[in-house]
Amino acid sequence: MNIAIIGGGIGGLTAAAGLHKIGIKAHVYEQASSFKPLGAGIGIGSNAMLALQKIGVAEDIVKAGMPLHEQRFLNDAFKVMNSIDFTLLKEKFGEENIAIQRADLHEALFQSIDLAYIHFQHEVTDFTQDKDQILVTFNHHDKKSFDYVIAADGIHSVFRQTLVPNSRPRYANYTCWRGTTKNQRDVALHISSEAWSKQGRFGWAPLHNGDVYWFACVNAPEADDYYVSLEKEGVANLFSHFPPPIGRLIAEAEDDSFLHHDLYDIQPLDTFVYGRTLLLGDAAHATTPNMGQGAGQAMEDAYELMLALDREHSVEAAFARFDARRVQKTQKVIEFSRQIGWAAQWDHPFLVYFRNTVFPFVPKSLLFRSLTFLFK
Ligand SMILES: Cc1cc2nc3c(=O)[nH]c(=O)nc-3n(C[C@H](O)[C@H](O)[C@H](O)COP(=O)(O)OP(=O)(O)OC[C@H]3O[C@@H](n4cnc5c(N)ncnc54)[C@H](O)[C@@H]3O)c2cc1C
Repeated sequence: MNIAIIGGGIGGLTAAAGLHKIGIKAHVYEQASSFKPLGAGIGIGSNAMLALQKIGVAEDIVKAGMPLHEQRFLNDAFKVMNSIDFTLLKEKFGEENIAIQRADLHEALFQSIDLAYIHFQHEVTDFTQDKDQILVTFNHHDKKSFDYVIAADGIHSVFRQTLVPNSRPRYANYTCWRGTTKNQRDVALHISSEAWSKQGRFGWAPLHNGDVYWFACVNAPEADDYYVSLEKEGVANLFSHFPPPIGRLIAEAEDDSFLHHDLYDIQPLDTFVYGRTLLLGDAAHATTPNMGQGAGQAMEDAYELMLALDREHSVEAAFARFDARRVQKTQKVIEFSRQIGWAAQWDHPFLVYFRNTVFPFVPKSLLFRSLTFLFK
């Protein structure tokens, strides 16, 4: 069986590892000329760690990760409004949440695949499919025919936007900077924190190598010139109302880790299967990062695809099983994540006062339970 995976991001590489494990030697076609993982860190939920364990690629990721035991939500004076006990996830489901350098995550996934199956400088520009094959055109006008394609080409997926023309990414109305900063002297180990204020939101987590990963979001028009032009000092000024160590974390961020992006998701799709094409990861269900689940859901996709292809008698049946197991769950992640971002980014003083007064009274058990759908 001749299956191509388009895109060598977290989703594409994890899917390749899963397919190779069951003997399907899928090739990965990636537009970049080499792996240049974006700086900064990423949180991997314990549900996704379970998927990585089952695929057999978790070992190096666990070693490079910082286990997170608690998530704290703070107000603008850093008073804890509420928290989620992540140790219960480990107790109940067997894995814990981790924070990891993106470069380490990518490297571990990359190392788990035989290099002969990864092809750089292969940007897909077009494709056609019929009942017998899918014909893919690459940027150098080379055409290749496949039995099936796993489109893991990210939120701006050529495949999705061709197959579902009205699926353009939706702006979430906030813009976000990320970075990693050396030295955890003023940061609690094993705890990730997020502070909410009417001027913006700041989150941070310690990493295994002694750095701190952080993100900072403010409400903004899409592609706003002022925010696009800001350097570290300008971003530190936006968050100068927060207590230490926020100013230090922003001002001392490693240059190559300092990133800025407007945030988007996509309207949930009804299906990820279009003839011989299956959408996976952000191509299928890009979500805002408020639950820390975008990459995690791509990893779960990879595991479910591996399982479906292993268990079903035909690829069509496997794709149908994948769809049945993934569409509703990822819809819920997109919607829940958007709602969290909406409330966390409130800037109206009355709404902020209301949220900060009510949130501390939400039982921790309820916050925990709101995450358990991720394990179903
Ligand atoms: C600010 C921010 C913070 C985040 N934090 C978290 C977090 O803490 N936890 C979490 O789980 N997720 C997080 N995410 C989400 C996570 O980064 C994504 O969900 C994840 O990277 C998606 O992986 P993917 O492989 O589906 O897509 P991508 O990472 O976008 O990979 C797509 C790949 O396809 C390639 N490609 C694209 N088009 C083509 C083409 N035409 N031909 C060939 N190749 C192509 C690209 O070069 C790329 O390598 C965050 C996202 C943002 C923006």
